Amino acid sequence: MIGQDMPEEAARFDVAISGASYAGLALACSLADALGEDFRIAVIDRAPAASPAPDARAFALSAASRHLLSVIGVWEAVAGAAQPVTAIDITDSGLEAGVRPVLLSYDNVTTGGETATHIVPASPLGAALRARAASHASITLLAPTTATGFAIGEAGARLQLADGRELRAGLIVAADGRKSALREAAGIKLIGWDYPQTGIVTTVRHEREHGGRAVQHFLPAGPFAILPLTGNRACITWSEDAGEAARILALDDAAFLAEVEKRFGGRLGAVALEGPRQSWPLAMHLARRYVGERFALIGDAAHGVHPIAGQGLNLGLRDVAALSEVIADSVRLGFDAGDAQALSRYERWRRFDSAVSTAAFDGINRLFASDQPLLRSVREAGLGLVDRAPALKRLFVNEAAGLTGEVPRLLKGERV
Ligand SMILES: Cc1cc2nc3c(=O)[nH]c(=O)nc-3n(C[C@H](O)[C@H](O)[C@H](O)COP(=O)(O)OP(=O)(O)OC[C@H]3O[C@@H](n4cnc5c(N)ncnc54)[C@H](O)[C@@H]3O)c2cc1C
Repeated sequence: MIGQDMPEEAARFDVAISGASYAGLALACSLADALGEDFRIAVIDRAPAASPAPDARAFALSAASRHLLSVIGVWEAVAGAAQPVTAIDITDSGLEAGVRPVLLSYDNVTTGGETATHIVPASPLGAALRARAASHASITLLAPTTATGFAIGEAGARLQLADGRELRAGLIVAADGRKSALREAAGIKLIGWDYPQTGIVTTVRHEREHGGRAVQHFLPAGPFAILPLTGNRACITWSEDAGEAARILALDDAAFLAEVEKRFGGRLGAVALEGPRQSWPLAMHLARRYVGERFALIGDAAHGVHPIAGQGLNLGLRDVAALSEVIADSVRLGFDAGDAQALSRYERWRRFDSAVSTAAFDGINRLFASDQPLLRSVREAGLGLVDRAPALKRLFVNEAAGLTGEVPRLLKGERV
């Protein structure tokens, strides 16, 4: 870490990234890999590097995200904790239903024979990214401190930190999450709204083997996902009506477990709590622009989606792959990291794609989070039709694997 008395030369970077979480660290590692030791990268985070905020989530990561993590040297460290998802079962029933019949079921393998999704616990993923970033001499981590704003001059950008220090950089990247201070400093507005739902996450141990099957129970208050983890364990990602969620979260362990069991379904036998519970207010947002002069947004700073399809971080890693590719191409041609043409290529590449995904996940949540009888029978008929259409199912799996459209090199498992 650089001290308060950082000399002027030491405070000069090619890229300064605010946010040392999943997207920010993945970008730092991919740029360090691609552009070597002389390309200097700063990563700033308000959380202390040695004790980041605990994260009880487990992420459904696509094959494309796994390719990126492999190329940047992170997948190896998390592979042991990652559970391949062999199949996905979807149900749609009322809260009090005694059984939750499967309406749609599909094998989670792409046309190319690859597992489309792995469930990766957040905590080892964060640790592996931090360890990989620390192994690059060209990455300087400044934490804990907060990036508050920036100014653009003739020769580059200057990033201001709350402790009074200032960094010079060719490009500033906001990877500082949904409440991004730098997005606000850049004057970039959001389109979006809050959902009347809270995301509850916990880990359970269950009696019988899951066989790698993930389950999505569509319930009237929102989806209840059972994401298989290694061993007889699963991460529950559960969207609940916000008022009801506050009541459930305040329950003691036995009563909380009873609420989990009410929704879980009996297929995996007896269930016990295995990890802490955490919650997130759910919201959808999309930045009106992804770039400005010497400035780019990635990850949740750029977009936030409903967790219904487990795609938020996958979209963020797609940003990482596209931005590192345009920066690397441009730097190799002799331009600096903040080249305006490269940034507008990044925006064209990513903004439309994330706008479509954001709207799609919003629509699915609206369609399923309702107990209206007519809507329920339309859904049942729709799921039944898809269940009998193998080509359509394969299309969905390929889409979820993140390998369709104009795929950046890192997501195909190629170096930038
Ligand atoms: C319940 C739930 C389940 C989810 N499940 C999935 C899933 O299965 N699959 C999936 O792909 N996605 C999933 N997501 C989405 C995923 O969690 C997010 O997309 C991802 O965490 C975003 O990562 P990020 O690095 O962009 O931002 P964040 O993880 O929010 O990190 C932002 C970082 O910036 C730092 N920071 C903030 N402000 C400043 C500042 N001013 N200066 C310096 N540092 C700052 C913070 O300390 C933090 O480290 C889920 C989300 C929720 C809520």
